[in-house]
Amino acid sequence: MSKTKDRRIEQDQFRDYLATVNEKGGRNWIYPKKPSGRYYRARNIVALLLLGFFFSGPFIEINGQPLLMIDVIEREFVIFGVAFWPQDLHLLVFGMLAFILGVVLFTTIFGRLFCGWACPQTIFMEMVFRRIEYWIEGDASDQIRLKKAPWNAEKILKKGSKHAIFYGMAFLISNLFLAYVMGKDDWIELVTDPPSEHLAGLSAMIIFSGVFYGVFAFMREQVCHFVCPYGRMQSVMLDNNSINVMYDYVRGESRARVGDRKKVESGAFSIADLGLEEGATFGDCIDCYQCVQVCPMGIDIRNGTQLECTHCTACIDACDDIMDKIDKPRGLIRYSSENAIRSEKRKILTPRIMGYSAVLLALLTTFVVLLSMRSDLETTILRERGTLFQELPDNRISNIYTIKVINKTFEEIDYELALISPPGQLVSLGMINSVPGQSLVEGRFMVQISKEHLDGLQTDISFIVMADGEQIETVKTGFLGPNN
Ligand code: SF4
Ligand code: SF4
Repeated sequence: MSKTKDRRIEQDQFRDYLATVNEKGGRNWIYPKKPSGRYYRARNIVALLLLGFFFSGPFIEINGQPLLMIDVIEREFVIFGVAFWPQDLHLLVFGMLAFILGVVLFTTIFGRLFCGWACPQTIFMEMVFRRIEYWIEGDASDQIRLKKAPWNAEKILKKGSKHAIFYGMAFLISNLFLAYVMGKDDWIELVTDPPSEHLAGLSAMIIFSGVFYGVFAFMREQVCHFVCPYGRMQSVMLDNNSINVMYDYVRGESRARVGDRKKVESGAFSIADLGLEEGATFGDCIDCYQCVQVCPMGIDIRNGTQLECTHCTACIDACDDIMDKIDKPRGLIRYSSENAIRSEKRKILTPRIMGYSAVLLALLTTFVVLLSMRSDLETTILRERGTLFQELPDNRISNIYTIKVINKTFEEIDYELALISPPGQLVSLGMINSVPGQSLVEGRFMVQISKEHLDGLQTDISFIVMADGEQIETVKTGFLGPNN
């Protein structure tokens, strides 16, 4: 039986196993061949720009504030220079929904373009760690040879230096991650102060360095296969019009190796000897397996769109190179859609895309409206817990309140609180009328109201909060009084 026929049988069983798992359930380590070609060059440029952006992100400031800071522990969130508080949860919900739907819409149209070109996991893995590996251990065949070699001086030196550099890179990424999470100023303190002052921060740095080292040195493609939720959701997001890295089976089949084709032409083999049906004609795929050998996920894209494919484009470059050599047009593997390949028709504005776009527009509009209505100060006034009312001389009743004022801007704001309804007096019991930027102040005050203005047990009362002579918000709460 010819090798082509063997491979065809193997290929028919491709859904029965994972390329990265062997028959005993162990790991099949992937040794992808070093890619080259126009897409790889373009991805290098994009990766360089994005790496520059990732590493400078915590140090870029908008109006003196970080571009992005997500400090979950201190509950400080800065996105594009705008500070958000946990009280802005409603904004976060609409923002997240719009973001998720945006991702779904983008994926439905463009497939996993993000995974191949902009995902930090792909960029660090393929453009940083894999390159270091090629540089130290050589191309795939050299790496396999080194793996099988006994532990001699060369192997110890190569493996040792690779893992030392990998850990160094993981340490850098861990610091970058912390700078995003805690903000650059806290991160600078963490790395410049004596270690004894930041034991928790330094522990986090060491733990994250270990995690990133494990991800890039050992887990690799397993992160995309089993950890990343985006990859797992492809099957529900993609349809026959989505643009994917695709093998043009109409043009490529029936595939056969060059040697086998010659044997059929010379009459030494019949078409049936190659596992093909009588009357089958040869397509452009010469079954050279270059597209499989460069794949960092270990898959054969000729089996169709697969969950494992991150659209890294390495197989496009490898196949284009083969097409150049055999004098056929490039693009046997290319960005395309199932419908475009099968019937040369591709619809862009499908009902699904239009539906997603309409909902996304509604979410974005709501988000922008809510954002524009968001005030700089947020005031909460509650009657002091556990207190009732007090009867005062002159037929007046008093209640005690606590006030919390959050300043969502980065500048100090002086505010004034006034009771507007019903008529009464507001007496400070320790109120602070100035709130530093990005801070919360708390205070107490008393409200005295004449009985004639009360509605019995519970009366609604309203305050206004003023700053710089402007009314910022109205706050309503309740006032307790006697039941008559
Ligand atoms: S099939 Fe092609 S695009 Fe997909 S991961 Fe493999 S090499 Fe990259
Ligand atoms: S690189 Fe191209 S010609 Fe070679 S096996 Fe893959 S699809 Fe076929």
